[in-house]
Amino acid sequence: MRLSQMLFVTLREDPAEAEIPSHKLLLRAGYMRRISSGLYAYLPLLLRVLNKISTIVREEMNATGAQECLLPQLQPASLWQESGRWDTYTKAEGIMFALGDRRGQELALGPTHEEVITAVARDTIRSYKQLPLHLYQIQTKFRDEIRPRFGLMRGREFIMKDGYSFHADTDSLKQTYDDMYQAYSNILRRTGLEFRAVDADSGAIGGSGSTEFMVLAEAGEDEVLYTEDGQYAANVEKAVSLPSDAEPSPFTAYEKRETPNTATIAAMVDFLGCSATQIVKDVLYQVSYDNGRQVLVIVSIRGDQDVNETKLQNSLTNLASDYEASTVLALEVPDAEAQAKWATKPLPLGYIAPDLGDDYIAASKDLEPKFLRLVDKTAVDLKNFATGSNESGFHVVGANWGEQFELPKQVLDVRTAIAGDRAIHDPNQLLKTARGIEIGHIFQLGHKYSTALGATYTSEQGQEVPLEMGCYGVGVSRLAQAAVEQSYDQNGIIWPVAIAPYHAIVVVPNISDAAQMAAAEKLYGELNAAGVETLLDDRKERAGVKFKDAELIGIPFRIVTGRSLKDGKVEVVKRATGEAEEMAIDTVVATLNNWIEAAVTSTAS
Ligand code: ATP
Ligand code: MG
Repeated sequence: MRLSQMLFVTLREDPAEAEIPSHKLLLRAGYMRRISSGLYAYLPLLLRVLNKISTIVREEMNATGAQECLLPQLQPASLWQESGRWDTYTKAEGIMFALGDRRGQELALGPTHEEVITAVARDTIRSYKQLPLHLYQIQTKFRDEIRPRFGLMRGREFIMKDGYSFHADTDSLKQTYDDMYQAYSNILRRTGLEFRAVDADSGAIGGSGSTEFMVLAEAGEDEVLYTEDGQYAANVEKAVSLPSDAEPSPFTAYEKRETPNTATIAAMVDFLGCSATQIVKDVLYQVSYDNGRQVLVIVSIRGDQDVNETKLQNSLTNLASDYEASTVLALEVPDAEAQAKWATKPLPLGYIAPDLGDDYIAASKDLEPKFLRLVDKTAVDLKNFATGSNESGFHVVGANWGEQFELPKQVLDVRTAIAGDRAIHDPNQLLKTARGIEIGHIFQLGHKYSTALGATYTSEQGQEVPLEMGCYGVGVSRLAQAAVEQSYDQNGIIWPVAIAPYHAIVVVPNISDAAQMAAAEKLYGELNAAGVETLLDDRKERAGVKFKDAELIGIPFRIVTGRSLKDGKVEVVKRATGEAEEMAIDTVVATLNNWIEAAVTSTAS
């Protein structure tokens, strides 16, 4: 492609709308334009990158025996009502764009396709002989993200590869899951990204496993905890660890003490002269279930620890049947406005004890009249601890479970693991922290969707049983930007060779110099003919502008038909290292082909 004929617009300044380097660079280098919040026009250069990523994804998926298909993006509400997700996705999380057609039918734009694919499986899979089966697609997804940001990282419209597998049993599911683990590792390695596979939260579905593929970068929205021995890595939402040991309590007898202005753990520690590990902190939550029931929850946890709301939400989902509900719609710390709706009197905030009275809860139809009391494992073994007294300005010290307070029946792990904690597999290993961009997520779903939608098959024993399912997603557009986030310098993008929009750019410093143009045209033709995807900068611009643009857009190899032409040579510059060499014109094609081959195979498995 000739730049003189291309839609090629670069910006000198960083666009104000962009916060992170990759977002700035993709806009500045003319890869995309923002149309509205979370909506981008992918311009020709970016589309080539996206297509290259998609090709790698297809190759790796096809190699596992998965088959490509394409499902409708417009989906009927009825399927989501069957799975029970319509309300969660349109109301609670509200992430699905829902709409009505002119006949008054409700529809939604697909944020994901478990329902649709399960309906296909229900219609087409009859017998165990058809299993296992794995279908995938590469397609635009729609999500009404509450905070679209960072360009392609969190868009409201984005490209995803999503795949769904169907199995007769969990062994077969596990096999495909392992194949996907390998395929995803191959995809990321081939696209040239540094990544880490981490244990991930599987939400309330449970399932027997879920792994996220994280590209490590400061701008990542996720936190990963890992150990240096390579034995453990998990998303903080899921991570487990050994908390530090609690210090022995300085309190020897139970008493209530006046402790003015000690509503925080830090203030309590100062005032009482004890360690935060000797305090039981009681945190109030309000959970809304899908049947409209609201429950107030008190979580008792050791004072130096924090509640992990993902773990708490999973635990509350597991308890849903106690309230004739099936899932959690919302979990929040009730603010003053929320408290005003149910509290019969002002709450002793900052001084709450594990036994805060149920008489704080006003009778109301959808509100559970009793607190749900939960205790985190960290608080269970404390002796002579300090905690609230249910009276503002007072705490109790020297308290014990089974004496002053009844130990809640529900003992859970709802604590947040943090960097510095000891690892469970080896207490000598301390957890370290890193930021990650979630690029892919693989998931053993089990039969949640097949049971809900009645997708069954006839087993070898002649029984009708629900299909076992797995699902596997990769963010193709997010991956493109993550590659930039991992690879740039002050002059612009440095694309990994495997996904660069073009391999090479021939820059003509002066287009009115006939010799320069002739040499450039010849190289441009020969390189493209030899499969080296090449741009020709034949614009009427100053040489300096052209060099800057070539660096900004990040093309791996730059060829300049300049001064050394008279010796039969051109200058070849590697974008990644800045290394420049004078090269005989007739060796350029072969050399570049070798370099590209070497770069692409060094990252292949
Ligand atoms: P996140 O936790 O980042 O919101 P998710 O867990 O909802 O993502 P999945 O439903 O597992 O994402 O989707 C599979 C992949 O699609 C993700 O791993 C990610 O790469 C990509 N993805 C998800 N949401 C977006 C988005 N809003 N914009 C771009 N890519 C996305
Ligand atoms: Mg995810």
